Amino acid sequence: MARTRIVVVGAGFGGLAVAKALKRTPADVIVIDRTNHHLFQPLLYQVATSVLAPGQIATAIRGILGKQKNTTVILGEVSGVDKQKKCVFVSDADRKHVPITYDYLVLATGVSHSYFGHNEFAQYAPGLKTVADAVEIRNKILHAFEQAEAEEDPTRHRDLLTFILVGAGPTGVEMAGAIAVLVRGTLKSEFRRIEPASARIVLVDMAPRVLSPFSEDLSKAARQRLEKLGVEVKLGHSVDQIDADGIMVAGERIVSKTVIWTAGVAPSPAGKWLKAETDRAGRVRIQGDLTVPGRPEIFVIGDTASLDQDGKPLPGVAQVAMQQGRYAGKLIHNRITGHDAPGPFSYFDKGSMAVVGKGFAVLQTGKFHVSGFGAWLAWAAVHLQFLATSSLRLSVFLQWIWTYVTGQRGARLIINHHESEPTKTVIGAGVKAAVSNN
Ligand SMILES: Cc1cc2nc3c(=O)[nH]c(=O)nc-3n(C[C@H](O)[C@H](O)[C@H](O)COP(=O)(O)OP(=O)(O)OC[C@H]3O[C@@H](n4cnc5c(N)ncnc54)[C@H](O)[C@@H]3O)c2cc1C
Repeated sequence: MARTRIVVVGAGFGGLAVAKALKRTPADVIVIDRTNHHLFQPLLYQVATSVLAPGQIATAIRGILGKQKNTTVILGEVSGVDKQKKCVFVSDADRKHVPITYDYLVLATGVSHSYFGHNEFAQYAPGLKTVADAVEIRNKILHAFEQAEAEEDPTRHRDLLTFILVGAGPTGVEMAGAIAVLVRGTLKSEFRRIEPASARIVLVDMAPRVLSPFSEDLSKAARQRLEKLGVEVKLGHSVDQIDADGIMVAGERIVSKTVIWTAGVAPSPAGKWLKAETDRAGRVRIQGDLTVPGRPEIFVIGDTASLDQDGKPLPGVAQVAMQQGRYAGKLIHNRITGHDAPGPFSYFDKGSMAVVGKGFAVLQTGKFHVSGFGAWLAWAAVHLQFLATSSLRLSVFLQWIWTYVTGQRGARLIINHHESEPTKTVIGAGVKAAVSNN
């Protein structure tokens, strides 16, 4: 008899947890991802601000699951599901929509950026979700300083050195704090025509406070810390326009060449593939055992799933995805091996954290709220613990100590992936500076 086949789509936090939980299951596990790496998204902002290199927060999926004999890893993009024929359609470099059959299917395909109906903003304000996004943003930030240094007209320096973060959730706050530390510390004495410390950093959100998922006291502490770092916080107004020259917010024009979008996310198209019921955001509504109603063989987990607990939807965070992944893996294992199914999934909230600049974080777990250096140490310990491999843990730990003590950053390269393309020429009062199109 053919072995049971379990197809897991997505090797992020949720998908990887499922695959690992199936390690001893007498079945063939196929993990499909459109990238070859598992990415630790909570540290993406550190790649975007040059603290860490991409290879320090991402690991080859094949390397993580290489010793798991029942598991095959496939690099490919899933574009649909046929529930009747029980197959997913996968495209790779030279083949399109190849069907791969399953007995059990787990969709853990995460989210992408949402510009709230203003997709035209995307070309001017990149979001932060993938390694490529982080490198693009790092290029943009570092480029701004190079352009300003090459620009002889000092009246243009201010505009070139204005950085705008749209969205004051954890990613926007962490990015704003990290840019402030970069400009007031690392870059401080390296330029001759410009003063990096004079850079303007603006954090904008329509919400009335920063870090809205956190308690009010921690929001206040985070805001005070940002302001101490010189970040301008503009709340209560949505951004009306983003174009090549900056943004419009509350009737004010803020000129900037570097706008970064951290405001919204949209789930993967898993709901469309399955023609399943979704919530208003487009996330697939799942049952207490994480399956799709009427389809006991199809699980949807993590950011792309919608499940209420205690009357509230579970948040789109790594812990939810990992705990759901472990649960789905255990449930499938038990079914295959004839054991009783576990009770319905229940999320255990271990707390939330966000970093604001150097040596300062906010931490909230249940009724316990704390901010400051102690919270930052806890943040560092937890993030190190959840990196995918011991080599990454060691490498990131050493880099953090080095950066903390010396202010020096690990990866300050502007990487131009299109070096053979013609370069633009920026004219600044007689100075010609060749800059890439990146
Ligand atoms: C910048 C940033 C910072 C964050 N910080 C925190 C934090 O501090 N703490 C926290 O708890 N959470 C944080 N999060 C949220 C957390 O990363 C997510 O909740 C978590 O990654 C969700 O896991 P997932 O498995 O659902 O999706 P992901 O981890 O996003 O994994 C989805 C996987 O599916 C793959 N995929 C997608 N579509 C396809 C397709 N069609 N075919 C094949 N493969 C596909 C992707 O390549 C990816 O590997 C952060 C997120 C971001 C973007």
